[in-house]
Amino acid sequence: MKKIQMVDLISQYKAIKPSVDKSILNILETAQFINGPVVKEFQEALKSYLGVSYVIPCANGTDALQIALMSLDLEPGDEVITPSFTYIATTEVIALLGLKPVFVDVNEETFCIDPSKIEAVITSKTKAIVPVHLYGQASNMEEIMRISNKHGIYVIEDNAQAIGSDYHMPSGDVKTGSLGNIGCTSFFPSKNLGCYGDGGAIFTNDEMLANKMGMIANHGQSKRYYHDVVGCNSRLDSIQAAVLKIKLAKLDEYINARRKVASYYDDFLAQFDEMKDDKRIITPVRSNKSRHVFHQYTIRLIGIDRDALHKYLADKGIPSMIYYPVPAHRQKMFSKFGSEHTDLPVTDMLTNQVLSLPIHTEMEQEQLDYISSNIADFIKNNY
Ligand SMILES: *Cc1c(COP(=O)(O)O)cnc(C)c1O
Repeated sequence: MKKIQMVDLISQYKAIKPSVDKSILNILETAQFINGPVVKEFQEALKSYLGVSYVIPCANGTDALQIALMSLDLEPGDEVITPSFTYIATTEVIALLGLKPVFVDVNEETFCIDPSKIEAVITSKTKAIVPVHLYGQASNMEEIMRISNKHGIYVIEDNAQAIGSDYHMPSGDVKTGSLGNIGCTSFFPSKNLGCYGDGGAIFTNDEMLANKMGMIANHGQSKRYYHDVVGCNSRLDSIQAAVLKIKLAKLDEYINARRKVASYYDDFLAQFDEMKDDKRIITPVRSNKSRHVFHQYTIRLIGIDRDALHKYLADKGIPSMIYYPVPAHRQKMFSKFGSEHTDLPVTDMLTNQVLSLPIHTEMEQEQLDYISSNIADFIKNNY
């Protein structure tokens, strides 16, 4: 049996090696490392895949969020609403820009921001909401957009874990990341659409914001050597764009492979849904509002020792991960905002329950059987 990994990028590369090697070699031979034609080609392909008017490629997902926030002309001390149950990048850029992160609890079923708790924290300083489509499941965007419209607040979607997910609107399916004012994504290698280094992108249907973000990502430059606003240097290089162009064409296939693994886990874990003494394993809930793309397959362990299972699996050569062991509001970096006193009971609860199992595009039946028989043994031996 092949070694089990959280994500198997080597097997995935081997399956597309001829086309990737050819594209990368072409860049080496033409030396168009920055802003080569393939960057534009990928940009166009992503635009049409997402059904958005503008895509701005950039250096990574954190930059994408930062540039998005920079484009909104916010003032120091303005407030940005975001979940605490997320990867640190989402919340870090808010503080980095002198803005105040205002943490809102998540829904325990979807792991995403709970819209029913947003309006209570809106003040005259609230300028934006940054929902995170965590683990590949979309936040409740209809509710979030209703609140945004009612209060005149921008929405920036952190789509780093959910690229390719469809959101079911009454008018038809739309891609996550295209519902708010701005969508952001990361092409970090392990993401559902990952490159072979760092990369990111920003998308929008708003021409004014698109122009501004394009400028900000390029030193605030309106034309060469004329700098109108303070910007940064954030580019997607040609080698990454070449890899992404090939992988974007396979994204739906990759998503289906992930969803198949998720269904296998769902079926196997169903037997632990009701155990004695209220102990149980809760499998990921699939919202009927969107198509889950399973960046992670994250279970909740109720009355079962999560850390013991993590260690048991590790001893059997099975990796599993806790995303994330410390929520943002409990991080030292935010103590100046007094955020550790924010009452986020669901976030704190989930932090102690969640465990993400291996899921990727190249998983083999033998590996899934091995993982499940070891989980079953752990439960049988201990409960
Ligand atoms: C990966 C990730 C980011 C940051 O992306 P980088 O490319 O690593 O900077 C931001 N938000 C979420 C939810 C992520 O998963």
